Amino acid sequence: MSTPPGSGPGKANAALGKAVPHIDLDGHDLPPSPAPSSPRNGRKYALATELVYTDSKDQYGASSIPIYQSATFKQSSAGGGSEYDYTRSGNPTRTHLERHLAKIMNAGRALVVGSGMGALDVITRILRPGDEVITGDDLYGGTNRLLTYMATNQGIIVHHVDTTNPEMVQKVISPKTAMVLLETPTNPLIKIVDIPSISKIAHEVNEKALVVVDNTMLSPMLCNPLDLGADIVYESGTKYLSGHHDIMAGVIAVNDPAIGDKMYFTINSTGCGLSPNDAFLLMRGIKTLAIRMEKQQANAQAIAEFLESRGFCVRYPGLKSHPQYDLHWSMARGAGAVLSFETGDFALSERIVEAARLWGISVSFGCVNSLISMPCQMSHASIDARTRKERHMPEDIIRLCVGIEDVGDLIDDLSRALVQAGAVTVTMDGFHAKVQAQSLASTA
Ligand SMILES: *Cc1c(COP(=O)(O)O)cnc(C)c1O
Repeated sequence: MSTPPGSGPGKANAALGKAVPHIDLDGHDLPPSPAPSSPRNGRKYALATELVYTDSKDQYGASSIPIYQSATFKQSSAGGGSEYDYTRSGNPTRTHLERHLAKIMNAGRALVVGSGMGALDVITRILRPGDEVITGDDLYGGTNRLLTYMATNQGIIVHHVDTTNPEMVQKVISPKTAMVLLETPTNPLIKIVDIPSISKIAHEVNEKALVVVDNTMLSPMLCNPLDLGADIVYESGTKYLSGHHDIMAGVIAVNDPAIGDKMYFTINSTGCGLSPNDAFLLMRGIKTLAIRMEKQQANAQAIAEFLESRGFCVRYPGLKSHPQYDLHWSMARGAGAVLSFETGDFALSERIVEAARLWGISVSFGCVNSLISMPCQMSHASIDARTRKERHMPEDIIRLCVGIEDVGDLIDDLSRALVQAGAVTVTMDGFHAKVQAQSLASTA
C-alpha cells in the first residue's frame, strides 16, 4: 500500500480482486473486512456481545491484545515479505483495534488515528480547491475551525446551512458539492439531522458527493450512519468509545474499499495513525461501551425529566417534548447522554456551573464522570460571538454530559447548585425555574 490509490472505482476493484485470493483474516493489507464472530448456527450476536468478543491469533492466546511497542518489524527476506514493517504503515495492536471497530460499526473497513479532528483532517484531504462542502450551522467548534481554515487557505467553499431541514441542503447542493458533512444530534442545541433523507438528496443530485457523518454523540452503540446512507462515518474515540478521558483517538469507517484506500494512503503518508499504546487503551474502553452507555443514558433521562418538571427548557431527544423525537428514534437506538438547558440569564448560568461540585466543569463528554459546561464559553468558543448569534446559540445554554454516578447524587448536586445560584423559586412543594421555558418547537 505504498502507491497512491487509484481515483476511479475501476482501479480500486482491480486491486481488490488481486487481494482477495490471499485474504489473511488477521492481516492489515487487504480489505480488512471484519472477521465474523457469529455463532455457527448463523444467528448474529448482539452488539453488547460483539463489543467484548474478539478473536486473535496471539501466539500465547493472550485474552487482551498485547501492545506491540515497536516502530519496526524484521523482514523475512531482503525484499521484505513480512506482514508488518513500520508502525506508521501498520502495527498489530492498531490492526486488531481497526478490525474490531469495523465489526461493531457495520463497516467494511475502519481506521484509527490520533484524534477526532485528525480523522476529519484525513477525510477532508480528499477535497480539492473549488470543491464545495455543505455542512450544519451548529457544528462542533473544532470542526468549524478546520472548515474555516480550509475555506480561507485552501480554496474550499463551505456552505453552513440548517441541516435539520433537508430542503436547505437541497437548495445549495450542486455538481460542485464534493462533501456533505453532518452531525446528529447537534451540540449544544441537540437538533436532529435526517441522515437518510439528506443522503438520498445528495446522491441524487451528485452521485460522487460524499456524505460524511460525525457520529461522536451517539457512538456505534446507538447509531450506524453507514446503514442510513452515509459514505464515511467518523468519531472522536476520545469520547464514548474510550469512556475514561485518558486518551485521544479518532475513528474513520467506510464501506467502499476505494475510499478506505484513500484514507489509509493519507494516514500512512502523514503519520497520524493511532499509537500502539493508545490503540490498546481504546480497545479496552470499547469493551465496556454497552454497560457505560446504558447507565449514562438512564441517568441522562432521569435528569432531563427532573429539569423539565421544574420548568426549564431542556433539549434532549429522550424527551417527548423534543420537536424531532420521532426522527431521532427512526435513526438511533437511544437518546445518548448529552443534554442542554437554558436559564434565560448568562450570569445565572455561570453561577450554576460554578456551584456544582459533583459535576466537573469540563469540555468534552462520553466520560464515566459527569461534566457541566457553558459551550459558548468553552467547547464552542472558537466560533466567534457574531456567528454564534447568527446561528441562534443561546449564550446562557448549559450542557450536561452525564456519567455513571448514582443518579440521586447527581440530581441532589444539581438541585443544590440551582438553589445556590438563585435559578429557582423555592416553594412549599419544591422549587421551580424562575424563567418559564419556551416551547422548543419555535427555536428548533
Ligand atoms: C470531541 C469531538 C470531536 C473532536 O474529537 P477530538 O478527539 O477531540 O479531536 C469531533 N466531533 C465531535 C462531535 C466531538 O464531540
